[in-house]
Amino acid sequence: MPVAEKRDYYEVLGISRDANADEIKKAYRRAALKYHPDRNRDDPTAEAKFKEAAEAYEVLSDAEKRARYDRYGHEGVQGRGVHDFSGMGVQDIFSMFEDIFGGSMFGGGRGARGGVNLEMEVSVTLEEVATGVERDIEFERLDLCDRCSGSGAEPGSQRRTCPTCGGYGQVEQTSGFGSLFGRIVTTCPACRGKGTIITSACRQCRGGGRQPKRRRLSVHIPAGIQDGQAVRVAGEGEPSENGGVRGDLHVYVRVKPHPFFERHGQDLLCKVPISFTQAALGAKIEVPSLTGRVELKIPAGTQHGQMFRLAGKGLPSLRSSRTGDEIVQVWIEVPKKLNKKQEQLLREYAKIEDKDVLPESKSFFDKLAEFFSGAKPGDGESK
Ligand SMILES: [Zn+2]
Ligand SMILES: [Zn+2]
Repeated sequence: MPVAEKRDYYEVLGISRDANADEIKKAYRRAALKYHPDRNRDDPTAEAKFKEAAEAYEVLSDAEKRARYDRYGHEGVQGRGVHDFSGMGVQDIFSMFEDIFGGSMFGGGRGARGGVNLEMEVSVTLEEVATGVERDIEFERLDLCDRCSGSGAEPGSQRRTCPTCGGYGQVEQTSGFGSLFGRIVTTCPACRGKGTIITSACRQCRGGGRQPKRRRLSVHIPAGIQDGQAVRVAGEGEPSENGGVRGDLHVYVRVKPHPFFERHGQDLLCKVPISFTQAALGAKIEVPSLTGRVELKIPAGTQHGQMFRLAGKGLPSLRSSRTGDEIVQVWIEVPKKLNKKQEQLLREYAKIEDKDVLPESKSFFDKLAEFFSGAKPGDGESK
């Protein structure tokens, strides 16, 4: 990528300028997975984007380089311990970062058995949260290549001693990540520590030993799950580089907004309109619940904003057997249009109301009168 076109590193990783080390690491992991050329064979720009992200990460993950970049921009870090990623192979870049982070960088980290974890997202409705649901998901993951069984060598070809490390599997690094962490000897990037390299790369996976495959699964989303929580499906991630043992799949759950209900933990809040006559005289109304319509009795004299609790009509808990409640909040609607008869009756009502003011209103208007008389400076007596 030409120097003139260099993008802002924060923009490349999609993070804010005050992102912390963990956020930077996560953002890079996302970008590296997204743009890994093996996953983007149809996109010729993916490799450049992958390398761009690696460069941004190399600078921003190092406090000193980041400070120089913040002050002087790209010129502050160019040629000062920053690798020229454009000339490096994708696998080399991968091994470079895997060395530093013990292989915990990619795909959400390594599973307990050394495989690579994957992450994905599903959306569920509140109704599905109430009952739990089986969700069919489909995703692409890197599996061992069929043709070479993961060795990366064309079937029938030989391996030879790695010329980079002379068969030791380790090399000395003079700059960059190794020295940064006080380590000089790192795994050989050319053979990835094996000591031998393939003489003829597998035609199907181009020597990577893995190939993307689509996978379909049914995942159980348990009742009561919260937005943002993940379901772990053991052994459905990607195989580790050498062993072929799979990592885990983490399915993050997003709960869709509901037209009637606002979720408050296990309780559901539902705002229901009623007429002022229903509020004044009392009424039986129908309100929505997650399992269908429910009848609710509104007592005479109900006030605007008053809340009624429907016990057990909320959501189940992931950890206990307690079920939440539905809270119905009524909101009094004043008619925008009245017909002749209605208006006539209301006017008659208003006349009586004037003579015989309701107790609450009276005290309110009394208070209002006191407030304004007391508020006038110089008016009234001071105690
Ligand atoms: Zn292969
Ligand atoms: Zn080597």
